[in-house]
Amino acid sequence: MIKITLPDGSIKEFEQGTTPMQVAKSISEGLARNVISAKFNNETVETSTPLNEDGNLVLFTWNDEEGKKAFWHSSSHIMAQAIQDLYPRAKLTIGPAIERGFYYDVDFGDQKISDNDFKKIENRMLEIARGKHDFKLREVSKQEALDFYKKENNDFKVELIENLEDGEITFCDHDTFTDLCRGGHIPNTGIVKAVKLMSVAGAYWRGDEKNPQLTRVYGISFPKQKELKEYLELLEEAKKRDHRKLGKELELFTFSQKVGQGLPLWLPKGAALRERLENFLKKAQKKAGYEMVVSPHIGSKELYVTSGHYAKYGEDSFQPITTPNEGEEFMLKPMNCPHHCEMYNASSWSYRDLPKRFAEFGTVYRYEQSGELHGLTRVRGFTQDDAHIFCMPEQLDEEFKKVIDLTLYVFSSLGFENFTAQVSLRDPDNKEKYIGSDDVWEKAENAILSAAKEKGLNYVVETGEAAFYGPKLDFMVKDALGRSWQLGTIQVDYNLPERFDLTYKGSDNESHRPVMIHRAPFGSMERFIAILLEHTGGNFPLWLMPEQAIILSLSEKYEKYSQKVLTLLENHEIRALVDNRNETIGKKIREAEVNKFPYMLIVGEQEAKDGTISVRRHSEGDLGTMKIEEFANLINTEINSTLKPFKTEV
Ligand SMILES: [Zn+2]
Ligand SMILES: [Zn+2]
Repeated sequence: MIKITLPDGSIKEFEQGTTPMQVAKSISEGLARNVISAKFNNETVETSTPLNEDGNLVLFTWNDEEGKKAFWHSSSHIMAQAIQDLYPRAKLTIGPAIERGFYYDVDFGDQKISDNDFKKIENRMLEIARGKHDFKLREVSKQEALDFYKKENNDFKVELIENLEDGEITFCDHDTFTDLCRGGHIPNTGIVKAVKLMSVAGAYWRGDEKNPQLTRVYGISFPKQKELKEYLELLEEAKKRDHRKLGKELELFTFSQKVGQGLPLWLPKGAALRERLENFLKKAQKKAGYEMVVSPHIGSKELYVTSGHYAKYGEDSFQPITTPNEGEEFMLKPMNCPHHCEMYNASSWSYRDLPKRFAEFGTVYRYEQSGELHGLTRVRGFTQDDAHIFCMPEQLDEEFKKVIDLTLYVFSSLGFENFTAQVSLRDPDNKEKYIGSDDVWEKAENAILSAAKEKGLNYVVETGEAAFYGPKLDFMVKDALGRSWQLGTIQVDYNLPERFDLTYKGSDNESHRPVMIHRAPFGSMERFIAILLEHTGGNFPLWLMPEQAIILSLSEKYEKYSQKVLTLLENHEIRALVDNRNETIGKKIREAEVNKFPYMLIVGEQEAKDGTISVRRHSEGDLGTMKIEEFANLINTEINSTLKPFKTEV
């Protein structure tokens, strides 16, 4: 008998050779129907693998990430079979599961495939799926494996096998198809009910441009037709929400080849949006004890040699700027920290002065290859909502909690409710990779962990993910479509205080080294606005909207009344515009909807006579007629429900 421990801690005894699927059946028929993959003692196994020793068993369904991975990985086998059936000369290489779906890299030789071929491949895949063929993993010797693919004339697989150890090679069979594979499959092909090929792209064998170019065929599959339909709808919605598309439609920003790739140009509406975000954060930061500073866009090369950034960014980034003076070199700044360190060094500080918190909306420049550039999320020049906190080691705990408070305040004011945090600690087995003593690391890691716990964050701990100079806390948000993005970051740094010889006088009258915290709740203005656009689809929280309302006159006759309404709204600090064009009201409403004005205020004869407005809410419709004061109250209530004043704890 063997003892199997399940995730809930319960231990059950089974006969030796029992499979994960049999374990599932012993729990319930329902579970057995849904189990699609398993892990035994932390290793992926097939649901049909006999278990021969005691151990921990985890069973996965479609609802688990691991389950999806097995589902998509198995689907790539089905696609490979379909491709081989339809294109007998095609050579298969590798085909893994990815975050959403799977791909297979195929050498189609002189044949070409395009979107037009997808349907017939999908149909063949569904035919194979309906056959309910079991996936069966079997061990093969290296020689057998080599013979198999040499006979098929597949040099790619031969190359893969040559790099494997004899005794560790397995093949996976289903139906009439065989593939070289390590395992991790669903029980049989019949579970796959819906498939869709998404796209084809060029890919080099093993990612090396010197190698032959292959065709990467992307696909996705689901256990229900309905789920495929929902996924495709989500993709459509994501396309509509693409920040590059919305940014253009809302006239927020643009790019110009003449100005240069990856250098965003903020148009008036975008600049106003940035300003509003900056003012929002500045106001909260002021309350939290930050002081604003300003530093130039370039700094002497020596500065970055001292900070270590030259070693990190120098070779692969923008090259130094020279001057008519010999030997004088400047760099576009890749980071604001070195400047802030020198600001700290401009005075001498005592323990009573700390913490010092220097904040700056600092624009930095980093070279990204043109292929890597993407809208506002990957650019060559961007503005960080940066700040550096210089504090005593014993203040770390407190400061960390304060930064978390500020970050949470920023997220809630902008409607990001669904976020997680990642605490990155050092690898305790590789301490020599990190700078700073055991004692300070322990203090800093405990400070982060206890702050995350006390603030009730939903966090995961990643050991070995810390920067060499200190542990960190990153915030990940999920947008309205369920996609994850990394936003704010808080990092402890023992390195720069050392490199810049930062000191303060302690209560013992001795000189001590402060600790530095880098933090940026938004991350960068560019990235944050991109994510905000995709999260909200351009319907920002009302307090942030460039214009909160548009006054639509029924005809030019009501121009005077429209202007009066505008003035009254301005008196209530409501941002509004007037549309007095000689167009039908239907057309004006449609355009206002497209341009995402939160409120449309219609004025005609009756409204002018009564001193009222007819109010429409974006995408909701008619809210009825009201006085300006009533409308102002409505707006203020809505704003106050998301944008609360920032309060520091006493
Ligand atoms: Zn496989
Ligand atoms: Zn920094």
